[in-house]
Amino acid sequence: MAVIMEELCLTFQDGIEIYLPLPMLRRACPCAACQGEPDALGRVVRPHVELKDTSYQLRQIVPVGGYALQLFWNDGHSTGIYSLTYLRDLFAHV
Ligand SMILES: [Zn+2]
Repeated sequence: MAVIMEELCLTFQDGIEIYLPLPMLRRACPCAACQGEPDALGRVVRPHVELKDTSYQLRQIVPVGGYALQLFWNDGHSTGIYSLTYLRDLFAHV
């Protein structure tokens, strides 16, 4: 895995390669602070997240238990755990 030209490049064990633009990856951050959590009635209100230039710069990528990646962004945000399935799914929608 590597960051090339503002894209995260990942190769899976089955040989599939995917490329994900960093801004898209950041906007798809799956954490509750970015995507919101359902309230008692099941409604999800998407929080407003202030994104800056540094929000789209990847500082560090840490594998989590062989099934996910935790992404550390330059603006200090790091609560997003991206499962490999989720990443492949995102790529299908690029
Ligand atoms: Zn997030």
